[in-house]
Amino acid sequence: MITTKAVEEILNSPKQIVITSHHKPDGDALGSSLAMYHWLKPKGHDVRVIVPSDFPNFLDWMPGRDEVRIYPAHKEANDQFIAGADIIFCLDFNGLSRINLMEAAVRASNATKIMIDHHLDPEGFDDYRHWNSNASATAELVYDFIANVMGEPEAITADIADCLYTGIMTDTGSFRYSNTSPGVHRIVADLIDRGARHWKIHEFIFNSATENRLKFLGYCLLHRLEVLREYNTALFSVSRDDLERFNVGTGDTEGLVNYALSLHGIRLAALIIDRGELVKLSLRSLGDFPSNEVCATHFSGGGHRNAAGGNSWASLEDTVEQFKSILPIYKKRLTQ
Ligand code: 5GP
Ligand code: MN
Repeated sequence: MITTKAVEEILNSPKQIVITSHHKPDGDALGSSLAMYHWLKPKGHDVRVIVPSDFPNFLDWMPGRDEVRIYPAHKEANDQFIAGADIIFCLDFNGLSRINLMEAAVRASNATKIMIDHHLDPEGFDDYRHWNSNASATAELVYDFIANVMGEPEAITADIADCLYTGIMTDTGSFRYSNTSPGVHRIVADLIDRGARHWKIHEFIFNSATENRLKFLGYCLLHRLEVLREYNTALFSVSRDDLERFNVGTGDTEGLVNYALSLHGIRLAALIIDRGELVKLSLRSLGDFPSNEVCATHFSGGGHRNAAGGNSWASLEDTVEQFKSILPIYKKRLTQ
């Protein structure tokens, strides 16, 4: 590990810098990455945001979105830049398996790796970390890094404020989850002071559905929701056919799992989707029920206590059966 002072010294002269985040970047991943980009760029660094995959359409308005490079789209050029980088900022993930296709290139690079993240159990690939699993969002930690650790609150421009607001807003479920501390509200107030267009951001993110997306939601509510009252659990299972029928794109399934959780009395909700190459699970829970433990123990995944993800290489039907078969283990914690 290197010291904060060493980080400051490295950043003092122009460097080649990569900013990356996890596969299928969400609002926090992309918001944190672009905020960091807007902070580093005016310092004269050669900065590139390179992410492992595309991102949802509802984030396609973010300041700097044209600067975001999708790794596989120009793999050779991106590999070259990563290999020559002095610094790699790793934002909103703490295990290199989360950057999928980019893992090998980042692991092989001799760059100083700076991790800013709020997930449990860091793998330990980093040389410097600003990490706190109690933080509501990585964007909260990026704010703290720029304003307090690097001591540059005045460097937070309106563009940076928009990006950080997006990260915090999306990772707190619009300031509803238990991770929304008083400190989060203070940071958000400061971001609005610095020019974050909070009303516009809510519009961009929540009023951007396509007709297909709404119809897909209606279809899932009517035909794909299963409620297991015995375990206070509800789940959606979505097949390849369903995705194709409604032309479901990246981000179109975002938020679906919350409808299952919104049912009265439900403590655990799951969205199980056949993505083709694998079956992806999204779990959400209330109170102290550990979604991350379920994902880590049974589905090669992890995440936070109330929001976690997992993976399965079995069929959709078998994955759903496996999910149901583990519920008895957790029955006590789901029903008491
Ligand atoms: P989502 O359900 O929105 O995809 O993910 C919820 C949370 O679980 C996020 O914080 C995400 O980082 C984490 N997560 C999702 N998939 C995985 C995974 O495959 N492995 C791990 N370790 N975490 C995941
Ligand atoms: Mn996050």
